[in-house]
Amino acid sequence: RANIGKITTMADDFDRLLGGGIETQTITEMYGEYGSGKTQIAHQLAVAVQLPKEKGGLNSNAIYIDTENSFRPERIKQMARSLELDEDEVLDKIYVARAYNSNHQMLLSEKARELAKKIKEEGEKIKLLIIDSLTSHFRAEYVGRGSLAERQQKLNKHLHEVIKFTDLFNAAALVTNQVQSNPDAFFGDPTRPVGGNILGHMATYRLYLRKSKGDKRIARLVDSPCMPEGESVFTIGEEGIRD
Ligand code: ADP
Repeated sequence: RANIGKITTMADDFDRLLGGGIETQTITEMYGEYGSGKTQIAHQLAVAVQLPKEKGGLNSNAIYIDTENSFRPERIKQMARSLELDEDEVLDKIYVARAYNSNHQMLLSEKARELAKKIKEEGEKIKLLIIDSLTSHFRAEYVGRGSLAERQQKLNKHLHEVIKFTDLFNAAALVTNQVQSNPDAFFGDPTRPVGGNILGHMATYRLYLRKSKGDKRIARLVDSPCMPEGESVFTIGEEGIRD
């Protein structure tokens, strides 16, 4: 893998945990309970990727596939303002698509390639593909043990599409995942992400997020191939993700 790019999380210690930020040609998976900060980090990275290289970005645009209607333009503007960027310009560089069900989500991940190609022809780049949440539709549509195999097969196909995208455009992918709340599904481990092994083998970086006191959150790097396991504390404030 040559020419790997990194995108800053805007928090120094969090970047250190990741070896400089989230990587291109890689899927980074964030999982954690409701309110642990997954969507906030996704918003922050959609802004950060637009920064010049010397500020930790890739001078590029982002695609944001939103499955739970959690994308907030106002939050993007708030983060842009705190970096003294033009808020409308920043928002314009995030291509948001709402996925209505898992098939639509899969279709959007294929369309992302066409969109990135078109944008490239116009002289701009897409260096970040966000899927928030990767698993919510799959989890809602394929319920019960009997449909687990089919769900995994579909997720597998979906993730291969995402990998293709990251390879083709030297882009980073950031996907979010809930922790398992159905005690029946994965032998009752509440910190286990939905998707089990297939996702585990494909997401090169896996981050487990949890709440700490107040605006503090803890990110734990789990099973990384090339970085040591470890933890980092970050905060979610009005300005975004910071140390
Ligand atoms: P998840 O996606 O893991 O469910 P979120 O990323 O939505 O969690 O995190 C929600 C939390 O982010 C809120 O509980 C709040 O603490 C914090 N947050 C969201 N927006 C703001 C803001 N504008 N200013 C400060 N903190 C915020």
